[in-house]
Parts: sequence; C-alpha cells; structure tokens
Amino acid sequence: MVGWALPTKIYSTKMVGSAHPTMAESYHVRIEKAEHVFSAAHFITFGSACERLHGHNYHVAAEFRGPLDENHLVIDFLLVRAKLSDIVAQLDHFVLLPTQHERLRVEDNGREVVATLNDRRWTFPSGDCRLLPVANTTAEMLAAHIGGQLIAALGEHAAKLKRMRIEVDECDGQVAFWER
Ligand SMILES: [Zn+2]
Repeated sequence: MVGWALPTKIYSTKMVGSAHPTMAESYHVRIEKAEHVFSAAHFITFGSACERLHGHNYHVAAEFRGPLDENHLVIDFLLVRAKLSDIVAQLDHFVLLPTQHERLRVEDNGREVVATLNDRRWTFPSGDCRLLPVANTTAEMLAAHIGGQLIAALGEHAAKLKRMRIEVDECDGQVAFWER
C-alpha cells in the first residue's frame, strides 16, 4: 500500500502546488430561474426630466461566492430560490415608488398613494403600490433593494459568504448589477 500511496501524493503536489502556484481554488453559484420574474410599473427621473409611467418584466438572478460548508455547498440552491421567490412576489404586479427621492414626494394616506413632482401628480390605490426605501426606482436601486432583502432573509446562511451579486434585467439585456 505504501508503494501506491507515495506516487499519488507526489503526483497531486506537482499538479496543484508546483504547476499552478498562483491558481487559488474558489467556488461560486448562480441562481437564474424563470420563477424569479416580477412585472411592475414605475417611472424614474433623470435630472429634471421624468419618465412616463410604464412597466417591465424584471428578471432577477443571484450569485454567491464563498467557502464550501459542511455539505460542500456555497449556499443551498433551494433555500435561495424560496427566499428570492418571496421577495419577487412582494414586488409583482405593483406600482413601485421611491420614498427617498430628492424631489418626488410620495405620501400614503392608507387609501391612496399620491406622488408629486413639480406640476405632475400621480394617484394610485394604496394596495396597488410598493413604497421602496430607494432614491429612484432604477434597475440598480431595485437590485440593491432585493440584495438587502435577500441578505436579511438568508440570515445566518449568508454569514460565511464572501460576495453576493444581484442582477436585475429590466428589458432583455438591460441589466443592472449590485454587489456586496
Ligand atoms: Zn423603466
């Protein structure tokens, strides 16, 4: 048995240690599922300009980097799928409005949400809106919002992750990335 063990050890050291001394091993996983789509209405501002109200079918994907756990996983796919589905469902078929915009005022009286910007005014039923703690409902800000929600939802399961990325595709290849 010694005769077998020795050459094996020499072989693996040579391949991993000597031949590729700068190649460190790492793992990451990606979750990009058809179920992680939400349809929502929004409008954003650019400087003094403001878009008309319109909608997107937003596709959300998530990536995680980190060490393997005791089950040899970066993170459990099924856990991420379930948590991300919950977050996406909270945004699906709603009007998304920012609560931290510099000039757009958004007020919810429990019956109606009224948004005002200069001489423009939008009124929606309260139940049709999601007021998000972002400065503008850009795909970038939505990715950041979803990322924060996902970290909170994963709790201790996110503790050992080294990197996390959320992607929000708002229109067939118009993709915003948020990383932490
Ligand atoms: Zn848009």
